[in-house]
Amino acid sequence: MTHLTLQAVTKRFNAAYAVDHVDLSVPDGKLICFLGPSGCGKTTLLRIIAGLETPSSGIVSFAGRDITHLPANQRDFGMVFQSLALFPHMTVAQNIAYPLRLRKTAKIAQSQRVTALLELIQLPHMANRPVTQLSGGQRQRVAIARAIASSPKLLLLDEPLSALDAKLREAMQVEIRLLQQRLGITTIMVTHDQREAMTMADEIVVMEKGRIAQVGKPLDIYRDPVSEFVADFIGLGNILPVTYDGAGGVSLPGGQQILVTPPARVPASASEIRLLIRPEDVCVRIGSDTAGQSQNRLSGTVSFIRDVGASLEATIDCAGFTLTAATTPRETPGLMLGMPVLAELPPHACKLIAARAAH
Ligand code: ATP
Repeated sequence: MTHLTLQAVTKRFNAAYAVDHVDLSVPDGKLICFLGPSGCGKTTLLRIIAGLETPSSGIVSFAGRDITHLPANQRDFGMVFQSLALFPHMTVAQNIAYPLRLRKTAKIAQSQRVTALLELIQLPHMANRPVTQLSGGQRQRVAIARAIASSPKLLLLDEPLSALDAKLREAMQVEIRLLQQRLGITTIMVTHDQREAMTMADEIVVMEKGRIAQVGKPLDIYRDPVSEFVADFIGLGNILPVTYDGAGGVSLPGGQQILVTPPARVPASASEIRLLIRPEDVCVRIGSDTAGQSQNRLSGTVSFIRDVGASLEATIDCAGFTLTAATTPRETPGLMLGMPVLAELPPHACKLIAARAAH
């Protein structure tokens, strides 16, 4: 059974649409990420689900019941919002017990639950510490334990890791994901970090200007974005303006023709078309001899190398455009700035998408 559903949910602030006719079903036990650039309506949509914001129109249902106008404190949802800080005058255990106290849970049951949660977040030895003496990651874990203390039916997380440094953030992504899977708790998380969404989500909801641009499994969205906006937002990509000849070939900006797998996604109405190829799909060979090479092999010159040890990214200047290729020192030993290279674009990795509408 799908627990949470949104039907044509809309929120206007004066004349502006923060959320614009959103339809969504959230499957039980999954972790869903709302992903999109700043101002696209992610937080507003999460606040509507939480009951902290009333939609201008539309219906929010949970377990078959219309909860659109149900106050937040009657929804039984756990929340970790950036602004919802821990109580600084309380200990770790007191913070976690707080929602249980509010519900007047029996003292013994409270203490058993707190002990179990402290084990779960791996901080059993810190029960009596003031939360002010914890690290950022430990505080985040306590906030999550507090949010799940009363076994909510839905967990809502709004950028819960944004205050952490990169390394801790990555570790916490894995921790939250493992915890969520272990508990099987349906979770919705807002983030503007596509890597975070790719790491954690069962499904990603990509938002653009208050609307849903695409919903799907992370890799499906990465591999098969429906629009230039989604292609650009999810991961690194080479997005080139091309003209399609209608028979499996496109002309690149420099005039060279290459073959592509016939387009699945290009609407007939699209006046402009883009070719998307991810950097890891561009095959680089050192050299310039194109004789006998496949049609999809382009000559270029290396104009920049971002070498991070295990992998490297090469920028390749071709006639009329630039490509980014991901490679490794083992695949392309001796690759250096200024070198002539051949970049192969395998037809199956070349996706055609409609260009985003001009503003
Ligand atoms: P961010 O990643 O920056 O937090 P977001 O995707 O969460 O952005 P929202 O905070 O949902 O975006 O805001 C969506 C739009 O609604 C923005 O244009 C914002 O300015 C506007 N907005 C949000 N809350 C209000 C409010 N209380 N009054 C007026 N406008 C608002």
